[in-house]
Amino acid sequence: MISIDRPVQTADLGDVRVANRAVVLRHVRRHAPCSRADVAARTGLNKATVSSLVSELIEHGLLRETGLTENRVGRPATMLVLDGARYVGLGLQIGADELVVVAADLSGERLLTWRRAFAAALTGPEETVRALAALTRRAVTRVTGAGRTVLGLTVGVPGLVDADGAVPLALALGWRGVPLAAELRRALRDPGFPVGVDTDANLAVSAELRHGPYAGTADLIHLTGGLAVGAGLVSGGRLLRGGRGFAGEIGHLPVLAGASPSATAGLGDAACRCGRRGCLASLAGVDAVVRRLLPDAAPDAPVTDYLPEIDRIQALARAGDEPVRTGLTEIGRHLGSAVSVLVDLLDPEVVVVGGHLATLAPWLLPAARTELAARTLAPPAGVRLEASTLGSAASALGGATAALATVEAGQLPAA
Ligand SMILES: [Zn+2]
Repeated sequence: MISIDRPVQTADLGDVRVANRAVVLRHVRRHAPCSRADVAARTGLNKATVSSLVSELIEHGLLRETGLTENRVGRPATMLVLDGARYVGLGLQIGADELVVVAADLSGERLLTWRRAFAAALTGPEETVRALAALTRRAVTRVTGAGRTVLGLTVGVPGLVDADGAVPLALALGWRGVPLAAELRRALRDPGFPVGVDTDANLAVSAELRHGPYAGTADLIHLTGGLAVGAGLVSGGRLLRGGRGFAGEIGHLPVLAGASPSATAGLGDAACRCGRRGCLASLAGVDAVVRRLLPDAAPDAPVTDYLPEIDRIQALARAGDEPVRTGLTEIGRHLGSAVSVLVDLLDPEVVVVGGHLATLAPWLLPAARTELAARTLAPPAGVRLEASTLGSAASALGGATAALATVEAGQLPAA
């Protein structure tokens, strides 16, 4: 609101207009098709303002008229829907054994999902930046070739990410102090759009918030599955980043403390990459799951492709293989124990697990739910623990969505 006791600055009017544009876009995204009068009635903006904002948004290709009319008394109204097909966000994701790129437009349509087998933990940051840049260039060529404009790119990393898009520490990748955003910008030779970096967990929960069956859930958590286990935390509809952006590092929560000897049998020393033992990641990370359930898998070399191993575990579990089922139940209990801490701290409505945790959910989640119910203080009926339905490219999808955030916040695209 503009204060009346100080001069009205042009910037203030600009800010108000930007905020109002975001209000109109958000309303149409949620309630389309809707008329200008509907927008005015339900947002509280006056009709002249709505009319002017809508014209501007149509001109920039962010809204379009469908020509549909509502069956109502009085003059038929022209209906509006979100357009935005012209503008694309790119999201990349550094997974345990692959790089993924997703392009999505403003209406949320996924235009491409490409994967490239890549073991970032074994190849190091320089090679990873080169591979990310190559994948980005191919995606940009495809998107711009179809007459669309790339508005931004966001990369999801399994580790800590600071405000400059640098990675101070990513244990799962063996990275320390990697200025990823700067390096990627340099490798792309000033691509003409912003390049951002975020944690894969923050991007995955953003994707859930927008695209999944729990879209719009105000108190939502996504736990990533992979070499790392990170938590993307949404509380009261807002992403919780913490003071320095490092919130959500649930992967190194000690979950073995106090566990019964039977629960720790067969785990070896449960040594974690962080130097401690019994962390969630050292028990439920994809490498830990494969090591525990398929002790014969590639004993002499590091596994660089987890998909066949996870497929095998799934097949064995389906066939009722007793050691695999027992192992999955134990891992599920550890998962439930970690989730109970999040539930007691943040009181979410839904906790969604992704990656291999989602693939193995039929065998992990029953035990995890029992453990969760036994450990949380609040009535357990109020929280759901579910598998993500967004697939293993959730973080990349969230990255593409994040890259469109400035337009969604009401800024007009420069293009
Ligand atoms: Zn650890």
